[in-house]
Amino acid sequence: MSISSNLNQLKSTLSEEVTLVAVSKTKPISDLQEAYDAGQRVFGENKIQEMTTKWEALPKDIEWHMIGHIQTNKVKYMAPYVNLIHAVDSLKLLKEINRQAAKNDRVINCLLQLKIAEEDSKFGLAKDDLISLIESTEFSEFKNIKVVGLMGMASFTDDQDQVKEEFSKLKSLFDQLKSKITSNLKLKTLSMGMSGDYPLAIECGSTMIRVGSAIFGARNYK
Ligand SMILES: *Cc1c(COP(=O)(O)O)cnc(C)c1O
Repeated sequence: MSISSNLNQLKSTLSEEVTLVAVSKTKPISDLQEAYDAGQRVFGENKIQEMTTKWEALPKDIEWHMIGHIQTNKVKYMAPYVNLIHAVDSLKLLKEINRQAAKNDRVINCLLQLKIAEEDSKFGLAKDDLISLIESTEFSEFKNIKVVGLMGMASFTDDQDQVKEEFSKLKSLFDQLKSKITSNLKLKTLSMGMSGDYPLAIECGSTMIRVGSAIFGARNYK
């Protein structure tokens, strides 16, 4: 199957309310160009340097999403152009995003990552910490960031009940916080679901799925 047929096939199953982020990490620019030519405009990467190289090479109407864990000292490289940062998991990181966004005279949209998986290796905030973060005075004073949703990654397991429970936990926090609207907080995006679990994620209320291998094929990490 080609990238364009994978994309068209996948998109034909999605309702208009669900945004597809094509996760192109490790893939060559020619693969992204093929997806672009098939109409895809939203791409997700997990390394800032790699995303910046691709941003420089590809058409400027692409929306670039940073979906990976972020090192604070690299925020400046994507601050001029990034459209959405998915995996924000600390006040310290938000502070740096706010600072770099201000330098570029823009507002950067962010999602807060909730830790929903049982595995220790997965990043994210605990529920109580996420709530204290958005209720903090420091947060309310950030003028150049907007938190527009939540993100989560389920456990890597065949146990569908467990995955469903983890997605539902995220959806319920999303619903709980949706009415909490301030100058830099308004939740509308719920980013959950990857190649292996996106149908279940959508069933659980996802509005944004991050799909890589089902579009571009398996990744080859050298
Ligand atoms: C790599 C990655 C994906 C996509 O994974 P696939 O299983 O290839 O669809 C989604 N989200 C995050 C955060 C990732 O790092």
